[in-house]
Amino acid sequence: MLSNRLLDAINAQINAEMWSAYLYLSMATYCQDAGFSGIANWFEIQFKEEQDHAMILVKYAQSRGGRVTLKAIDAVPTEWKSLLDVFENTLEHEKKVTAMINNLMHIAVDDKDFASQSRLQWFVDEQIEEEENATELIHKLKLLDGNGFGLYQLDQELAARVYNTASPLVKE
Ligand code: MG
Repeated sequence: MLSNRLLDAINAQINAEMWSAYLYLSMATYCQDAGFSGIANWFEIQFKEEQDHAMILVKYAQSRGGRVTLKAIDAVPTEWKSLLDVFENTLEHEKKVTAMINNLMHIAVDDKDFASQSRLQWFVDEQIEEEENATELIHKLKLLDGNGFGLYQLDQELAARVYNTASPLVKE
């Protein structure tokens, strides 16, 4: 059994992952409207991956006999100053998510809940990638410094990103 404290935190995390999905969908529409359909594609895939993260937690809570309770998803920002602003916001958000995941892991360690620690390790590892991706794109945008041809090439590069289910854990 999951402790009540851990189950509450997992339910809060499910909501946070759905909020992340909503945030990235909003960013995708912003990028599409700005004429960057490749960057919009990159955010649409983020949108799907965040839903996968929520589902992994739903399946995990259920597999441990925990009751999943879904709460309202808060509104997300809809406007940004620039593409750089979008990715800086992404990194800032992912750092908050990392802190939440670390908090979940703290509770699991405190509870001596080894199964939860094992499942949460997947999220700990995933957050390294999330922060790394956003940092890399911020670096590229700063290098380009608004160069039109460079931005066109970056848009082409991100258009090539293909969605794969985040993990087989979404079905477990
Ligand atoms: Mg996530």
